[in-house]
Amino acid sequence: MSQAETTNRVSGPPQNGIPAPNAFHPGKSGSSELVPSRYALKIGEIDVMVVSDGVLPLPTQMMGHNADPAIRANWMANMFLPPDAFDWPLNAVVVRSGAQTILLDAGLGLDPDLHLPRAGQLVQRLAAADIDLSAVTDIVLTHLHMDHIGGLLVEGVKERLRPDLTIHAAALEVEFWKNPDFSHTRMPEGFPAALRVTAKRFLEEYGNRIRTFDEKYEVAPGVTVRRTGGHTPGHAVIRIASGGEALTFAGDAVFAVGFDQPGWHNGFEHDPDEAARVRVDLLRQLAETRELLVATHLPFPSLGRVAVAGDAFRWVPVFWDY
Ligand SMILES: [Zn+2]
Repeated sequence: MSQAETTNRVSGPPQNGIPAPNAFHPGKSGSSELVPSRYALKIGEIDVMVVSDGVLPLPTQMMGHNADPAIRANWMANMFLPPDAFDWPLNAVVVRSGAQTILLDAGLGLDPDLHLPRAGQLVQRLAAADIDLSAVTDIVLTHLHMDHIGGLLVEGVKERLRPDLTIHAAALEVEFWKNPDFSHTRMPEGFPAALRVTAKRFLEEYGNRIRTFDEKYEVAPGVTVRRTGGHTPGHAVIRIASGGEALTFAGDAVFAVGFDQPGWHNGFEHDPDEAARVRVDLLRQLAETRELLVATHLPFPSLGRVAVAGDAFRWVPVFWDY
């Protein structure tokens, strides 16, 4: 074996006394985690923390089901991603503004027979970050897909939340899930049923705590949720602004492929054409304002800016700050 091959090993027995990375159990939760799962920053006076819920292995055609398979395969290869399935990151955000502690989305929670054991870590990771569920005053939901609400359905979570907790969601989103239309989605088998069941259960358990908004609502000073539609009819993004700085949590308006290929339809989009319009508008806006972007399924810590690149966009991750 050549020297280069030796140093490039990513798995297998220890080399030169250094254990290979797979010996560290990177999926493990708690203070002994060796892959960071939280990233904190300040937006003016507001504290923001991106927290990883884990990863979801999903088929690559979900990234662009209207794309030419050869072009899609080429994009995956150029990104050094495997051709058939890869791990979608899954992030949530905690915001502290004034007296309010606000959770933006709630992760996957328990895996309902879909074999997604490496997601659903949010609750443990909040605890590891010293964020007690009883401190959360508000939860803002970008939409009611299970990877954004499931964490609230984990056993014991509801009991630990404050009785006066307010959950914010677009009125159209709540309405949509009473009789959801999946006719334009292209999800893997089992997902539509799981999404329906989870949203239904969520509305049963938490319906009386939901405060709906039509188009826009200021949840806390500098924290504004705005309905975009597209991904789901009531899909919303949250803009955090303070002291001349701003960050948008875009939920599922943008996926990793969306910068190079904003027109590619994601399999989870209930109105793919509208979702593409929403994506392009948002990316244009962020490129113009140079404001920060975090999105649910961008690689952790999912924090960066958007640049224009010809007739598409370019993702520019921030340099980590300590
Ligand atoms: Zn999602």
